[in-house]
Amino acid sequence: MPDIIKLLPDSVANQIAAGEVVQRPASAVKELFENSVDAGAKDIKLVIKDAGKTLIQVIDNGCGMSERDARMCFERHATSKIQTANDLLVIRTLGFRGEALASIASVAQLELKTKRIEDEIGTCIQIEGSEVKSQFPSTCSDGTTISVRNLFYNVPARRNFLKSNTLELKYIIDEFFRIALVHPGIGFTFINNEKILYKLTPSNLRQRVLSLLGNHYNQKLIPVEQSSAIVTISGFIGKPEFAKKSRGEQYFFTNNRFIKSPYLHHAVENAYQELIPKDSYPTYLIYLTIDPKMIDVNIHPTKTEINFLDMKNIYAILHSSVRQSIGKYNLTPSFDFEADKVFSTPPPVKGQAIKQPTITIDPTYNPFEKKVKPQIEIPLSSKPGKADPNWQQLYDPLKEVKIANQKPSLQTEAADQSLPDIDQQAASGISPGILQASNRFIITYTQNDLIIIDQQNAHERILYERFITEARERSAYSQQQLLPQTLNLTATDSALLKEFMNDFNAAGFEIAEFGKDTFIISAIPADCSNEDIQGLFDSMLESLQNYPSGPNTEKHQKFVQGIAKSLAVSRNRKLHQEELISLVGNLFACSVPHLTPDGKPTLYKIGYDELEKKFK
Ligand code: ADP
Ligand code: MG
Repeated sequence: MPDIIKLLPDSVANQIAAGEVVQRPASAVKELFENSVDAGAKDIKLVIKDAGKTLIQVIDNGCGMSERDARMCFERHATSKIQTANDLLVIRTLGFRGEALASIASVAQLELKTKRIEDEIGTCIQIEGSEVKSQFPSTCSDGTTISVRNLFYNVPARRNFLKSNTLELKYIIDEFFRIALVHPGIGFTFINNEKILYKLTPSNLRQRVLSLLGNHYNQKLIPVEQSSAIVTISGFIGKPEFAKKSRGEQYFFTNNRFIKSPYLHHAVENAYQELIPKDSYPTYLIYLTIDPKMIDVNIHPTKTEINFLDMKNIYAILHSSVRQSIGKYNLTPSFDFEADKVFSTPPPVKGQAIKQPTITIDPTYNPFEKKVKPQIEIPLSSKPGKADPNWQQLYDPLKEVKIANQKPSLQTEAADQSLPDIDQQAASGISPGILQASNRFIITYTQNDLIIIDQQNAHERILYERFITEARERSAYSQQQLLPQTLNLTATDSALLKEFMNDFNAAGFEIAEFGKDTFIISAIPADCSNEDIQGLFDSMLESLQNYPSGPNTEKHQKFVQGIAKSLAVSRNRKLHQEELISLVGNLFACSVPHLTPDGKPTLYKIGYDELEKKFK
């Protein structure tokens, strides 16, 4: 048999490397930005078209390249940043692997224009799929401009794999943030489809953070500072009360490089323990400075994961400095977070008769002309659905209890004892036949089964079916906000919101644009909590980020699924008697009562026969 092993041509080797380094337009943006930062640029401009699918252009005023270097930089393993293996131990630049430009040039049509300050004239090179098409002297300003056109034009599988423009743009904005947040001294401009998305002038770190996250973060952040022989920590953390429902602003940087580290994340999250609700995420922007000898950056082609040689100590130092910052700003509240809010009513004064609370309702009061739900509606109810006829038989516990009480003689003794006294129950605020356990499960029963309902999953199903029907019938119920609320969004979220504006309206939201990335919310769907509108939108928009780019019906379904999940009552809420009754009734009125839209169970049934066996 002849020898069969051959060396791959460079163009193929580069494409293989590109598979790891350039996964999407955002990866190219990251690599080009890193090169501009390494080149000492003080001003970097990013111009993209169609979320980078048609054009990614990075213009910098850095050191530029000589004619020879301009040609060399596209060779594989060609770098000016390291020379020997030992240099790997003391890396101070963002790049060092010498494969980014070679990789990008293998999967795109690329043009490089570059000039050093000391040169009279610069160089222009055009290269397509690793093949140099032309090279000529060119008049250009000091610095480097790289234009990447039609990324993956020669790798259709990759190109088809790209997500919607909204999502790809989000990835690019993420990369932009990761670079801009750590180089406040550099001015950045970001232009998407000829519109300026960001224009950042050189500033200090706090100003840079605010211009990216929004000025309202000024009140939300507290500084973290800690210096030790092992690591220097600086940056900002969010006040616990502003923790978000979505994992938004969480950044670690090590030696000016954005990194991902679940281990360090745990250290921070742990420091917030008991200060924020379980389903919330703290904001943090933490900058670590470590001797380059004590980290290994070369463990991942995209250089976002690194190894710390002294991980345990860094964890401990980080944890304690976050904890300290929270404490220093006197944010650790003195009250007990474990205490259940439901029991926060003060104890009755001795000897004083307890008055039953009364609520006065004016059912005719309607401050708005629009369709507004009557005020006496129960918060969790939905419009009466077309109840499955079986439901009437399935769910009848209230009747049973009444019969039991009115006609005790008809019941056996055992049954009598098993049914709690209705008056006692009413006095204790527990609904006959339906009760809530641990603020998350609803327990009820039918003639044959004991039923345990998960309140969140159940409400998700109810809302899902309601929104689908309402959109079809154009009949959404809204609740007007007494005070319209302002919503500040990131550029991506704002684009997403606009994209789904019709769907939001169909579900009962009333949203008006109010300047750049700011919106006014004047109504939300009936029966949904309006306590934290910003949190609500954060989590809804997060759930919409991966919507399919398929037909509109599919998109709408995904939308409804996402918002039903975000709006559903949480697992940690005490429900009133009426809410419990309404939730159970509405669940059984659904066409698929036993599953959430994404297939999780909403209820669990145990037959009495089965239960009986447990006691034998
Ligand atoms: P690396 O950054 O790992 O060295 P790259 O393929 O990204 O590898 O770049 C190769 C080389 O090209 C760099 O080492 C640098 O010398 C040069 N280079 C790339 N981009 C620029 C730029 N914007 N300005 C000046 N030099 C650049
Ligand atoms: Mg590089």
